[in-house]
Amino acid sequence: MRVHSQFLISAHSPEQFPAPAIPEIAFLGRSNVGKSSLLNALLGSKQAKVSSTPGRTRSINFFSITDSPQRQQPQMYFADLPGYGYAKISKSISAEWPKFIEPYLHERPTLALCLCLVDSNIPPQPSDAQLIDFLKSTGRPLIVVATKADKLSGNGRTKAQIALQRGLDVEQLLLCSAKTGAGLKELWAAIQSAAAE
Ligand code: GDP
Repeated sequence: MRVHSQFLISAHSPEQFPAPAIPEIAFLGRSNVGKSSLLNALLGSKQAKVSSTPGRTRSINFFSITDSPQRQQPQMYFADLPGYGYAKISKSISAEWPKFIEPYLHERPTLALCLCLVDSNIPPQPSDAQLIDFLKSTGRPLIVVATKADKLSGNGRTKAQIALQRGLDVEQLLLCSAKTGAGLKELWAAIQSAAAE
């Protein structure tokens, strides 16, 4: 899909969030999971910053997305949330996150879908399981996206998919690669369907 995107704001507090007028898609994941690369691949641009070392972004970066620059209103917002899992031992994800993230996930009225990114090359991580449990408790629509699938062979992909689905206790999992573009069409379809609801 060909889309036009625009970086809106790096919000450090709820006052800076765009008005909740259109559907919003949240991108979540541990630091270095490949979130910026996936965003750039989806948007066909280099708007999200790709980190060589795990960063410590403390803000939500909002992007407006539209399929035509002629449109007055964007169709949806993408919300790129801060990564987690920097600390080797972290008692809870919220300990690492700015205080406004949990209320955002609970209360944002236009949040249509949470995309929780996990690395397909590493076993299920406790911090990912913790986040997914939390998101389930919010009742938000949730899709787990396994990144960097290009690094696995066909057989490895199936094994990784089964292990992640079991370990994270999710029925569905979408394997993707920002590098080859595998799975991106399916991901766009899921995003559009959630935004249309
Ligand atoms: P972020 O911290 O979650 O935003 O992750 P980045 O997008 O900065 O990526 C972290 C590292 O993983 C970088 O070295 C990327 O080049 C690499 N990476 C990201 N996506 C892919 C992918 O689809 N395939 C492969 N092979 N590497 C990837």
